[in-house]
Amino acid sequence: MMFFGTTNLDLCFNVERLPTPGESLMGALNRNPGGKGANQAVAAARLGLRPHFYTRLGDDDAGRSLSLSLRDAGVRADAIEVCPGEISGSALVLVGDDGSNMIVIDPGANLNVTPAMIDRAAEFIEHDAIVVAEMGMPIPALNRLFEMKRAKGFELIFNPAPVRAGLSSAAWRNVNFVTPNQTEAFELTGVEVHDFESAAHAAGKLLDLGPNAALITLGAQGAFYADAERAFALRAFPVKVVDTTAAGDAFNGGFAASLAQRLPLREAVKRALAVAALCVTRRGAQSSMPTGEAVDEFLKS
Ligand code: ADP
Repeated sequence: MMFFGTTNLDLCFNVERLPTPGESLMGALNRNPGGKGANQAVAAARLGLRPHFYTRLGDDDAGRSLSLSLRDAGVRADAIEVCPGEISGSALVLVGDDGSNMIVIDPGANLNVTPAMIDRAAEFIEHDAIVVAEMGMPIPALNRLFEMKRAKGFELIFNPAPVRAGLSSAAWRNVNFVTPNQTEAFELTGVEVHDFESAAHAAGKLLDLGPNAALITLGAQGAFYADAERAFALRAFPVKVVDTTAAGDAFNGGFAASLAQRLPLREAVKRALAVAALCVTRRGAQSSMPTGEAVDEFLKS
């Protein structure tokens, strides 16, 4: 399997409250590896797969530490590009004691992915592989990746986050599973998703864009699946929530890993819900991704 997407170094400051303009506050800093693509690849690796990952890093300290943490997690790094003269993506995250936040992102090297780079990275896609892409890469690069689906014969999961317009209709038709959250589903369809019924309505509109299936996540409510033949909703597992950061990434990594392990569809969605449920019980992004054994235990209990 192979993931395509962004990698960032998240500089997370915990502060009592968010600052006002001109104000200086004291806070506690944690440097966390992040970026949606990286989080998703790590989620699959923690579940025991050995995914390839294509991302671009700067030739800087952040890039070296990000690359190391990906390898440590079990992600195959052969396709990763380290780019002299560019800086790694980073995010400044302020989190107040009440959970409110402020985020500024410098995408750095993530912004410079070209279609030619995708052509080179695609050498690492094995036949019959599951390929996962999020929307942080430039649109022309995503269009190129999606348009090579038939020739390469892979199955494509598309997590449209951060959601933007511009994907070609040919690219949309090559998507097997589109996996938006409620906000992204609204942005793509104009349908406000607040329960399974409205999710069904949005899923119908998502299918009109061209993908074979729509799989909408609804936070603490669970997930809704629809394709041309069937539709079903599965409830989220009730857990004590500590931090919902990267819940969607855990879900996508978990779903992709389950498909790669040839689980039947409904089982794959259920396992993705379990991976995401365990993720929200722990603080952090990549550090909160559960192992395959932890998920097995959780599903037995
Ligand atoms: P995102 O993190 O992309 O905004 P969601 O909020 O829809 O995505 O969450 C993705 C998945 O994470 C949900 O489908 C669910 O499985 C799980 N999840 C999120 N919040 C909770 C929660 N409070 N309790 C249990 N599972 C949750």
